[in-house]
Amino acid sequence: MNELQVTTSRTWAEINLDELEHNVKVLRKILNPDAKFLAVCKANAYGHGLTDCAKKFQACGADWLAVAAVPEGVKLREAGITIPILCLGQTNPDMAPLICEYDITQAVGSLENGQTLSNFVAVQKKSIKIHVKIDTGMSRTGFYWPENNKDKEQTALEIKKLCSLPGLEAEGIFTHFAAADDDENFTAFQIKKFLEANEYLKNLGLSFKLKHAAASEGILKYPEAHLNMGRFGLVLYGYASTVTGNEGSDLDLHPVMKVKSKITAVRKLPAGATISYGRTYKLKRDSLIAVLPVGYADGLFRTLSNNFSVKIHDTLCPILGRVCMDMTMADVTDVKEEVKAGDVATIFDGDLIPLAAKNAGTIIHEIVCSPSQRVPRVYLEK
Ligand SMILES: *Cc1c(COP(=O)(O)O)cnc(C)c1O
Repeated sequence: MNELQVTTSRTWAEINLDELEHNVKVLRKILNPDAKFLAVCKANAYGHGLTDCAKKFQACGADWLAVAAVPEGVKLREAGITIPILCLGQTNPDMAPLICEYDITQAVGSLENGQTLSNFVAVQKKSIKIHVKIDTGMSRTGFYWPENNKDKEQTALEIKKLCSLPGLEAEGIFTHFAAADDDENFTAFQIKKFLEANEYLKNLGLSFKLKHAAASEGILKYPEAHLNMGRFGLVLYGYASTVTGNEGSDLDLHPVMKVKSKITAVRKLPAGATISYGRTYKLKRDSLIAVLPVGYADGLFRTLSNNFSVKIHDTLCPILGRVCMDMTMADVTDVKEEVKAGDVATIFDGDLIPLAAKNAGTIIHEIVCSPSQRVPRVYLEK
């Protein structure tokens, strides 16, 4: 058996790197031409594979990459990534040696956090590049930008103190929107707050080489928020909206991931037979049932039991009964072509991923992140 036969013997994810490149090209055109292009690679590149995707982003002209945690940045450097890497997550100070050694730019959202990083690097006579995080309304991390003038002055002075700590080089400043997809007023309010914070800091003699605010939906909807860097996440992987996917979008984005599964068996079962744990589905007719070697441990959510369809020979085949840990049953009675063991079923693709998100009551982000570690990624590239 060759490697590909082994990889595709059960359930696997096909990642089309040409589509990834296509999306970068489409998105580059909508970004303010003076702005840097940052590709977000956190969470194993949204489930698509950290290093393979990062290498592709670097090769097709991304200026920056972002990760959520320092060890992801370390993996990227070890894989040969040379462009700047921003760690977006708040970092435990014990990561400071890795931040230095692997030249990772760290987001800092509080004076205490900056202080502990500074303590380490100053002793080592090294330095760390930081991007100051401003909380304009997401209430997750960052310096909360207050309403009244006295507090603004105070916060600005704190940020100034952070930026002058030994060993810290303040290269950027940024914020993150809480509702770029569905709340124009609040997003406008966040943009205003962020610009105001920048103005206050400028008056204290602090200016930053990089200012950024928008992630995918922010970039698409608020050109005034491009500033000088756009942080592209979900759009890179082919979806214009986290809820509706590409429905109604005129951007030509191409979904990058497909999850496929090789049918284990096709069984004839009589009307009245009940399917899977808990007997939640009873056959209404004599049926042909395909057994698929994919389950919730692969990332097919159990909440999709009796509530989703997979594609077999291009026909939508409903999932019958509960999704198990390693197996799922689908109704193939209505498929025109003969269905047999060894045929390939498509579990997720560009149409099914938004449907899975809708039926599972979640967003596309969560579906693309869901294929688990035991699902091998197969990379397609011309
Ligand atoms: C995840 C993340 C992004 C990318 O978000 P998308 O909505 O997927 O584009 C950008 N910025 C920050 C701070 C993030 O945490």
